[in-house]
Amino acid sequence: MAISEDDIERVRTAQPISAVIGNYVALKRAGRNFLGLCPFHGEKTPSFNVRDETGRYKCFGCGASGDVFKFIQEVERMDFVGSVEHLAAKAGITLNYTTGGPSRDRQRNKELLDVMERAVEWYHQRLLTAPDAKDAREYLRSRGLAGDVARQFRLGWAPDDWDALSKALDASSDMMRDCGLAFTNSRGRQQDSFRARVMFPIFKESGEAVAFGGRVLPGSKDPAKYKNSAESKIYAKSKTLYGLNWAKADVVKADEIVVCEGYTDVIGFQRIGFTRAVATCGTALTEDHVRLIKRFANKVVLAFDADAAGQGAAERFYEWEKKLAVQVKVARLSGGKDPGDLAGSDPEGLLASVSDAEEFLAFRVRRSLESNKIDTPESKSRALERAIAIINEHPNEIVRRDYASQLAQTLGIKEVEDVVRRVDQRLDRKMSRIEATGPTSSGVRENAEFVMLALMVNDFDAVTGIVSEEVFLDEVHRRVFRTLLTHHNDFKRAEADLDPEAQELLSRVLVASVEGDARKEGINLLRAAVRRELARRVTNTSPEVITRDRGIRQQVERLSERDVADSDVTDLLAWLYDVSSAVEA
Ligand SMILES: [Zn+2]
Repeated sequence: MAISEDDIERVRTAQPISAVIGNYVALKRAGRNFLGLCPFHGEKTPSFNVRDETGRYKCFGCGASGDVFKFIQEVERMDFVGSVEHLAAKAGITLNYTTGGPSRDRQRNKELLDVMERAVEWYHQRLLTAPDAKDAREYLRSRGLAGDVARQFRLGWAPDDWDALSKALDASSDMMRDCGLAFTNSRGRQQDSFRARVMFPIFKESGEAVAFGGRVLPGSKDPAKYKNSAESKIYAKSKTLYGLNWAKADVVKADEIVVCEGYTDVIGFQRIGFTRAVATCGTALTEDHVRLIKRFANKVVLAFDADAAGQGAAERFYEWEKKLAVQVKVARLSGGKDPGDLAGSDPEGLLASVSDAEEFLAFRVRRSLESNKIDTPESKSRALERAIAIINEHPNEIVRRDYASQLAQTLGIKEVEDVVRRVDQRLDRKMSRIEATGPTSSGVRENAEFVMLALMVNDFDAVTGIVSEEVFLDEVHRRVFRTLLTHHNDFKRAEADLDPEAQELLSRVLVASVEGDARKEGINLLRAAVRRELARRVTNTSPEVITRDRGIRQQVERLSERDVADSDVTDLLAWLYDVSSAVEA
């Protein structure tokens, strides 16, 4: 199947390339070019050039370049034909195919979107006019979501019926299933997926409806208060942000986006005139979400209880800050309320919570200090430990030192340098993939971990008695090690279990040519890990702990000798395991 050359040129010239790219990237005119932040790599100063005369773009940061079709292919993850069809649909151009018809995927996608659009409209009309939607209308009115709000967000009502939507739309059962609107029940009958729920259509950033969230009315016996469409050919949760279609223009202007957890939070913000809010749809914020955000803004304000997500979330946020060059802050929502409620009860406070948003680390430290009373030397010492642990999650040493000296002041500790030293000694973790390319790159520790993994895939048994996951400082290396261990070097299964970032690392490990003595390398890693742990140990602990630590210090020194005893290795691995489980507990 192919599209005629004439049509391709018609689509290419239907609008200037800057207009197409401007839908994804905020562009500013710079002489004869347009300039913006590259959507393909993280950057803070624009190096992404677009030129209408030649119809080309080029990034001087990462080298990405091409024409309008290449751009659509990259940004929408489509093939060439898909990119032509995508742009043709936007420009209202009908294509002539030299062989075959439109690509089947594209055609199918379009049909699915059509069915979704009809479902949105049907549910919406039902809410506005049907007698059985009276309770729903009253509920929405009580929450300030009736009338214009319901119209703007195209809210709907799914009646308390088995198959009202299926009958009304009269689409094929495959179609209804692929849209997540209906399924075949145990008696072989087609049944609607949503029943007796207020419907919130979820739109892509380009404005097409791809899914629904449904909420029961108060008093319902249904245990699931919220229900979301399952993922489908047109809907990927981790790449969809509710409200982005309405917010994007303002987000670009302000270079800032506010991320909430629920639809009603977004609507709440919109109702008080704040149009930069979006929501994840029943999932945690993912890297794909942040990549999507990065196309529009550099500053992200989290308007939910980010502390509840804990240390794992903190590590991801810092990683994104570094890798994708976004800045993550946290809104100071008062009294544990969500934005949807605050929009009604305290709109000014809600707006202030966004403008007074704190750096993520400051937020975490403050919350940890507030969570316990500090009224004795012991409680002060515990508070110090907790806060130090949080500060140590941050990858940047200068940032850590700053926070540590602030912390000493806050807690009234005179020996500021002692506190600062506690965060000083934490080795900087090297997370970016560039630094992990192999033995020639600069990060010595990173290399040692990489080499260890490469040795492991060559000779599983040579490695596994010598190291455990605790010796890996880098989280990604650690994940790869753990997964290889679980699957006993079955690379295929390990790969299937890993996240994309770890998959990428594994793919490099699997082609790395390294030589080395697994035992020697392993002992080096172990020694570094034990020293690292000892360095960040509490100074004023019990006599038993001090005695044990002294023994560990002697054992770790023995690792430098020519013949290392297996018992020392085993002891130290066990100690590392104990220490890190104590931290997690
Ligand atoms: Zn770039």
